[in-house]
Amino acid sequence: MICAMSYNDKHFSMEFFPPKNEELRVKLKDTISKIGALGPSYMSVTFGAGGSTQQGTMDTVGDIQAAGFIAAPHISCIDSTKDSVRDMLEIYRAQGIDRLVALRGDIPEGTEGEIREFMYANELVEFIRSEMGDHFIIEVAAYPEFHPEAPSATDDIINYVRKVKAGADSAITQYFYNADAYFRFVDESRKLGADVPIVPGIMPITNYEQLARFSDVCGAEIPRWIRRRLEGFGDDKLAIREFGLDVTEQLCRRLLDGGAPGLHFFTMNQSGPTTALWKALDL
Ligand code: FAD
Repeated sequence: MICAMSYNDKHFSMEFFPPKNEELRVKLKDTISKIGALGPSYMSVTFGAGGSTQQGTMDTVGDIQAAGFIAAPHISCIDSTKDSVRDMLEIYRAQGIDRLVALRGDIPEGTEGEIREFMYANELVEFIRSEMGDHFIIEVAAYPEFHPEAPSATDDIINYVRKVKAGADSAITQYFYNADAYFRFVDESRKLGADVPIVPGIMPITNYEQLARFSDVCGAEIPRWIRRRLEGFGDDKLAIREFGLDVTEQLCRRLLDGGAPGLHFFTMNQSGPTTALWKALDL
């Protein structure tokens, strides 16, 4: 049963990735203004993911600010030096940015085991705090179904707690479709002394092949019943969207009703699916 609860006291944010060319940038500006009209707390922009550049992140952050919305750039550190991160922080501070998503990033293939200036995200958080004090609100990543490289679930939670103790203000999770994994992760990290808000990352379901590919890489599980249903829809895009909206709406309600402090939507640079979910949830 779906109950009509108000979520006015919660925070909702949106994630975009830098567009690959000028034509897509123009399209993204339109998406940003449509999504911005919904009234999210802020919009974040990924860094380095999918081959995008630092400049791409900066440009998109500028587009969000120019449209009158609050932007939060992601910074990943695995390929960065302390000097380059310091420069970036200075630029963002001068540009009026006061919120960041601090990540390690994926280790480039074939370079595992190399010693770097930053090895893990907790070091980046520590560095941002030591250079910039409390200027930035720092978000970090959390993995209710565990990061693929983590030797064990317990190690991964301990490593998450390390980022909070280094100075993170809150966390955004990898997407998941199993609410119990989220609630258990929240409980266990609190027991270890990390009680910052953990905002579930929500991936709308619109394309089965793409979702399956992402999930394989990032270690997010698509439950069998969802997978089998999506497979059964074949090329019927409308049926996939309707089913996906129903599944994610119920997931979001369960999370919010169970105490999640808000939601972070992975928009995939499209306004339609996130707007449909937003309206279904009556946010
Ligand atoms: P970490 O927290 O450093 O963890 C990485 C792994 O190392 C984990 O297995 C952890 O258990 C382990 N670990 C952590 N600390 C230690 C330690 N001190 N000692 C030993 N082991 C440790 N990627 C991008 O490239 N760009 C983006 O913009 C981006 N945005 C993202 C947004 C969200 C909301 C999420 C959930 C992920 C995002 N990612 C992005 C992906 C992310 O960079 C990868 O998942 C990456 O592999 C791990 O990053 P992290 O910050 O979680 O790393």
